[in-house]
Amino acid sequence: MAAAVPTVSVPLSNSKFFNWIKAALAVFYTKEEIEPVVTDEVKDFQQNCLHSISSSNSLPAGSTCSNCCTENLIVCPTNRLCNAKRGKCSYHKNAASQYRPSGCPNKICHNLKSEIQSAHRYHGPSYKNTDATKWCSNAWEIAKCYLPPDGYKDVSSAGDTDFNGIISVIINHKGFEAKIKDDLSKKNNIFEKGRDVGKAVRHSPNLEVEDTDLTQYFTILNNILTDPGFVAMNKSPNNAIQKLAKLQSDDLIIGKDIVRKVLDDVGKSIQEQIRNEMVEYKQKTEERKLELITEINLKVKEIEEKGNVSLAQLNGAVKSSIDAFEAKVKESIQEIDKQIRKGKETLESVANKEKENAIKEIQKAAEKCKTILQLYKPT
Ligand SMILES: [Zn+2]
Ligand SMILES: [Zn+2]
Repeated sequence: MAAAVPTVSVPLSNSKFFNWIKAALAVFYTKEEIEPVVTDEVKDFQQNCLHSISSSNSLPAGSTCSNCCTENLIVCPTNRLCNAKRGKCSYHKNAASQYRPSGCPNKICHNLKSEIQSAHRYHGPSYKNTDATKWCSNAWEIAKCYLPPDGYKDVSSAGDTDFNGIISVIINHKGFEAKIKDDLSKKNNIFEKGRDVGKAVRHSPNLEVEDTDLTQYFTILNNILTDPGFVAMNKSPNNAIQKLAKLQSDDLIIGKDIVRKVLDDVGKSIQEQIRNEMVEYKQKTEERKLELITEINLKVKEIEEKGNVSLAQLNGAVKSSIDAFEAKVKESIQEIDKQIRKGKETLESVANKEKENAIKEIQKAAEKCKTILQLYKPT
């Protein structure tokens, strides 16, 4: 009975799922706190670079360039970026996007590129997502050189960038090393651990977090927020430490918009996974997760209080969403059972009719045989 169905349902425990929501909110508040710090640091880096490039090339103060595209600054071929097969490169594709061996006509961009390169911990900036024509006008285009190479083409500010990306800038840009107290050159530093928390929450297969894991997540995120170097860099604190503490003790009042934003963000990454998932039952599981997220979003919207929700209300919304969701799953299992039974009955009735017809045919044939035999009966 219904053997194929369990693969498409998401087994859920209310408390573990609620843990997951708390973890997602904790990541959100941590991101909110580190975002402006990263933005400021990258802006300072941009300004310092431009200043020193101007002075060492005897350019007037405040000189900028928006003429050079990224392709103009990258030699052809460059590993992992472009590949000139038979003289044709899909990256340096036209006359305007050729590499300029003589460098930036304004003496800025190729120098800026060298600075970006030497400030990268692994000397491997991701040029794939960045737009060098904006390096002088939008510091976040420089920050994008320190993001993972894929998936950030369309982001233009720290706000558009996910937690994983923001943390990657801290880890990969050497400017943070002298300021953060924890040793960023070490594997498993607090920011790498924080990045792992973000990934674990985002990619949790059942949208569940164990109690012990949740405690650990809070500890890791707290270590980031209380690092003395980070605290010193944080010019306009957003009280993330207090929010995390209240979240942990179920005391926090949260803006409904934030809950919805956090759920929407996870929803988006699930949609992405559905698009990329080749295995059908896994795709179905992701679809179920998305349905559940949508369900909770609706329930949160229904909470009558204006603007805010308490964690108790959120927990109530989660409970009733899970109930509604599981009723739906049950319904679809019953529906599938019904279809299977119906199919069986139809098959049986078809088979019975066939059997009757066959018997009739045999009987007819037998009658014929009898008649023939009778004709040859010796008299
Ligand atoms: Zn090329
Ligand atoms: Zn230039």
